[in-house]
Amino acid sequence: MYDVEKIRADFPILSREVYGKPLIYLDNAASSQTPRRVVESIERMYFAHKANVHRGVHCLSQEATDAMELGRETARAFINAPSVEEVIFTRGTTEAINLVASSYGSLLSEGDEVILSVMEHHSNIVPWQLLASRRGIVIKVIPVLEDGALDMEAYRNLFTERTRLVSICHASNVLGTVNPIREMAAIAHEHGCVICVDGAQGVPHIKVDVRELDCDFYAFSAHKMYGPTGIGILYGRRSLLEKMPPYQGGGEMIGHVSFSGTTWAELPFKFEAGTPDYVDAAALTEGIRFIDSLGIDNIAAHEHELLRYTTEKMLEIPGMRIFGTAPGKCAVISFLIGRAHHYDTGMLLDKLGIAVRTGHHCAQPLMESLGIEGTVRASFAAYNTFDEADRFIAALHRIAPLLDS
Ligand SMILES: *Cc1c(COP(=O)(O)O)cnc(C)c1O
Repeated sequence: MYDVEKIRADFPILSREVYGKPLIYLDNAASSQTPRRVVESIERMYFAHKANVHRGVHCLSQEATDAMELGRETARAFINAPSVEEVIFTRGTTEAINLVASSYGSLLSEGDEVILSVMEHHSNIVPWQLLASRRGIVIKVIPVLEDGALDMEAYRNLFTERTRLVSICHASNVLGTVNPIREMAAIAHEHGCVICVDGAQGVPHIKVDVRELDCDFYAFSAHKMYGPTGIGILYGRRSLLEKMPPYQGGGEMIGHVSFSGTTWAELPFKFEAGTPDYVDAAALTEGIRFIDSLGIDNIAAHEHELLRYTTEKMLEIPGMRIFGTAPGKCAVISFLIGRAHHYDTGMLLDKLGIAVRTGHHCAQPLMESLGIEGTVRASFAAYNTFDEADRFIAALHRIAPLLDS
């Protein structure tokens, strides 16, 4: 049985108060909270196993290396990647996408085209714009339909002779829309293109199997999936990673260095220059074990019920507008009340102990296409309760009359 109170007991932060009121944390799409086991793993590393990884002859270095490599293997299994050589540690989704844009991007030529969508997070837009200014590639954009679903007809029509790559979010951090990655990958491959997936909002909510999705790259961040900050993963298909040049140069990523020429380390180390964040790489194991202990499908079912319940009740509030109503969306609710500014709504909710995010959510092109400046966003995680949903809705009823003047 899904015992939410038992789950909450593992998250000390959830029992704190803000302004003398119990915290209701609904900002999970920005960062989820962290269970004890993850923090304990960090503490264990610092107190008992800290030493620089790889090539260490001594015991501590071996232990730290083993802990980090267990993190890699756990991440591999979590997304069903074929091998650990295809699982690269990065600082997060942003760095993972920058790696692809910079390294795979260096294989593209002027006039080559990259397809993105209007619902992308800035981290899946700006790296491609940087590439466009360096190499003269052209960016094409898939629009969204009224309900926030991708316009698949438009997607098919964007391909030309010059299209080389598609980069798309698994799920939108604003609309909650879950994109049909498998279908999109098949279409991209038919056109001889590769597909890169921004999985920051995928992994916390959806069972991800990179082989089943048949994607070429998949990027995600640990801090949005109950793990530590500062670490993320890039999965890449081996045949592509092998032909890509290193992203950064330094220690760890070399085979042999000499001033007459340097060779690269084997995968995945070719893409991991410098001392990796081995403490957080080890703690990532515990974040994934937390998800596995509940079962991602059970988490998804719980969040879906919260989403359905909360959405229905929110729509009873006069002037409520919800952005993103695509079927099968994940548990993210972006909204505005009447003509009220998103910031005012967020501030009043904060005073009642409710943490939501306000603004453009790093998706300004999407805001522009919706004709708004920003939204208020409530997003759910495994530990949110129906009682919290009720208190959130009661708070909205209480503040709505103060706002819509
Ligand atoms: C949060 C987020 C990112 C960026 O993740 P970082 O951890 O900040 O690198 C990218 N895309 C989406 C959809 C996100 O929600």
